[in-house]
Amino acid sequence: MEQQITRFAGKYVTGFYFPEIHLTDVIEVLILTFLIYQIMVWIKNTKAWMLLKGIIVLAAFILLAAIFKMHTILYLAKNAVTVMATAAIVVFQPELRRALEKLGEKKFLSSVVPFETNREKVRFSEETRESIVEAAFVMGKAKTGALIVVEQAIRLTEYESTGIQMDCLVSSQVLINIFEHNTPLHDGAIIIRGDRIVSATCYLPLSDNMGISKDLGTRHRAAVGMSEVSDALVIVASEETGKVSVAQGGQLLRNISQKDLREKLASIQDKKTEVNKIAALWKGRHNHEKKTNG
Ligand code: ATP
Ligand code: MG
Repeated sequence: MEQQITRFAGKYVTGFYFPEIHLTDVIEVLILTFLIYQIMVWIKNTKAWMLLKGIIVLAAFILLAAIFKMHTILYLAKNAVTVMATAAIVVFQPELRRALEKLGEKKFLSSVVPFETNREKVRFSEETRESIVEAAFVMGKAKTGALIVVEQAIRLTEYESTGIQMDCLVSSQVLINIFEHNTPLHDGAIIIRGDRIVSATCYLPLSDNMGISKDLGTRHRAAVGMSEVSDALVIVASEETGKVSVAQGGQLLRNISQKDLREKLASIQDKKTEVNKIAALWKGRHNHEKKTNG
C-alpha cells in the first residue's frame, strides 16, 4: 500500500514545482477559507442565493454560446457584464449594507480586540428579566397578543425607526400596558435594549421560511424573521392560544414554560456570550435550512 502511494506520487508529483511554504501563506489560506465560507453562508442566507442561481444558468448559457461560437450572443454578454455588476449592487444594497454593518459591529470588533469586552458585564438586570417573564405569561393568560424583541449585540436601529421612539425602564406593568388592546402602542413589536424599551409599534421583517406551521400567523412569522436577520431573542405571546413562544436564530420554540423563558433570557444576559451567540446564530440557520430543504 505504502509502496503504491509512493509510486503514484513519484509518477505524478515529480517534475512539479513546489514553492516554499511560509507561515504567512498558511495564514493567508486560512483567512481566505474563512472569508469564502462567510460569503457563501451570506449568499445562502440572503436573496443573493437566487441571484447566484440565476448567474449559474446565465453562465451555462454563455458557455454553450461559446462552444457553438455564437458571436453576437458572446458580444452582448461581454458588454452586459458591467451593467449587471452595477445592477447587482443596486438590487442588493440592503444586504450589502447589512453585511458591512455587521463587519463594523461592536461584537465583531470586541471578539478581535479583547479589551472592549469588559466594559459592562450584563446586558440587562434581573429585574428586567423577571419583568419580561412575568409580563409575557400574564399577557398569554389574558390572551393579549405581544411581540417583544430583546436586542443583543446587533443594533436594531433600522427596525427601531419603524416604530414610535420611547425611552422607558422595563417593568411588567409597562409591558402589559403597552400591549393592551385598542391602545396607541399595542400594534407591532417593542424593542428592548438593556433595561429600557427603546421603541414600540415596530415593524419586523417577516420570515419566508416554508417550515413555519401554517396555523401561526404574521406575529409569529415576524418573530422568526427578526431572529433570522439578527441575534435578537424575540418573545411572542399569542392572542389566539395564549401560549408564549420564543424565536432565536431563526428557530421558533413554541409554547415554552415560564422556567424555559427565564433560562433563555438568563443565557443572553451575560455580554460575554456574544461571540458564542453568533456561532449559535449560524448553527440555527443551518438547522432551519436542513428543515426547510428536507
Ligand atoms: P396570534 O397567535 O397572537 O394571533 P399570529 O401569529 O396568528 O398571532 P396574527 O394574528 O396575524 O399573528 O397577528 C397580527 C398581529 O401581529 C398584528 O396586529 C401586529 O400587531 C403583529 N404583527 C404582524 N406582522 C407584524 C410585523 N411584520 N411586525 C411586527 N408586528 C407584526
Ligand atoms: Mg392570529
